[in-house]
Amino acid sequence: IPTEFEQARPIMQTIEAAGYEAYFVGGSVRDTLLHKPIHDVDIATSAFPEEVKQLFHKTVDTGIEHGTVMILDHGIGYETTTFRTESTYQDYRRPDSVTFVRSLAEDLKRRDFTINALAMHEDGEIIDLFSGLQDLDNGVIRAVGNPEERFNEDALRMMRAVRFASQLNFTIETKTTAAIASHAELLEKIAIERIQVEFVKMLMGQAPQMGLTDFLETGLYRYCPGLADGQDLIERLRRLDHLQLASEVAVWTVMVYLLDLDHVKTTKFLKAWKNSNQIIDATHRANAALHGIMQDSLDNWLCYETGEEDLMTAADLAALLGKTVDQSALMAQYQALQIKAKGDLEITGQDLMAAGVQPGPMMGKLLAQIERKVVNNELTNEKEQLLRFVRDNK
Ligand code: ATP
Ligand code: MG
Repeated sequence: IPTEFEQARPIMQTIEAAGYEAYFVGGSVRDTLLHKPIHDVDIATSAFPEEVKQLFHKTVDTGIEHGTVMILDHGIGYETTTFRTESTYQDYRRPDSVTFVRSLAEDLKRRDFTINALAMHEDGEIIDLFSGLQDLDNGVIRAVGNPEERFNEDALRMMRAVRFASQLNFTIETKTTAAIASHAELLEKIAIERIQVEFVKMLMGQAPQMGLTDFLETGLYRYCPGLADGQDLIERLRRLDHLQLASEVAVWTVMVYLLDLDHVKTTKFLKAWKNSNQIIDATHRANAALHGIMQDSLDNWLCYETGEEDLMTAADLAALLGKTVDQSALMAQYQALQIKAKGDLEITGQDLMAAGVQPGPMMGKLLAQIERKVVNNELTNEKEQLLRFVRDNK
């Protein structure tokens, strides 16, 4: 039993002492049984939200309409969700309504895959109603119940299947795979933001080839933004040896690189996937650097504009794409830059004004010129030198 569960035991005992049931559920149980680190402890209980709130001093209504209350205990928050069923899915996504129930079995039945439908009692006992333990042992992702019905209810589950295949290095069971293939089109009903989360997790998983193979063979990719004709891209990604992507930016950069998108099309593609401006900017930088490394044309200016983090991403990706990269030489090139940002210049707008330059576009131009020359080592970043340049060029 991991320490996170140990710490939560008093909470479980409090709930049970009041006559209700409480179990650990979801990813934390699955990951514990796989001896993987767990991130969040989810608790399911027969107590209704108001009943949970009466039992503890500090709670937060994090999602009370879905039955979720966070219990605060010694600075740790525990998400506690009332057993529930989800009824009448009419739009292939979220249920129309949730109904709170007192039965654990009902709650486990609505969960997506057998490995996610295990519950663990505070004493360590496992409740396994759908042979989830066997599937965990065999490395299998299997829908709970009839896979076609389950994907009809909520099409996001298809993306979750390929994401877990990749994260866990598991195989999707045959009928579940077939149901994904026949229902792939329903993905169009799902908000892109939610598809994106699963897609990124798939590509960042420990065995992305696993997820990618199903993503390709079931045709799910066709219903993802910009990937209607993405077969070739997915094939190429899948065939990369040691495909390991360490960040979101790495995911998007390798995609736009392999798709060979120009700047405008890159922005369009990333926006279609609902990426934040921060991710879009970082991807542009990493992609420019990646092109530079691949073409042996990474100069000081490109290093500088890219910045350390995105440069490392580009270096990793270049290696992944088969380029021999001297990472330490690359880092040395970056570290040797005289400035890492404009603010590092030993001269300011004030200094320029003191030297007789009028504030305005001319001053901006002159500063930009100085910045470029310092980065290219055509000027030394010393006040006197820079002022001399200003006097000669104003
Ligand atoms: P992660 O490690 O990524 O958090 P997880 O399995 O905990 O994986 P969550 O999205 O946190 O995934 O969901 C918690 C649990 O809720 C799942 O294990 C599953 O039992 C259930 N669940 C989540 N999303 C769905 C869904 N779309 N359909 C059915 N059950 C779901
Ligand atoms: Mg979780």
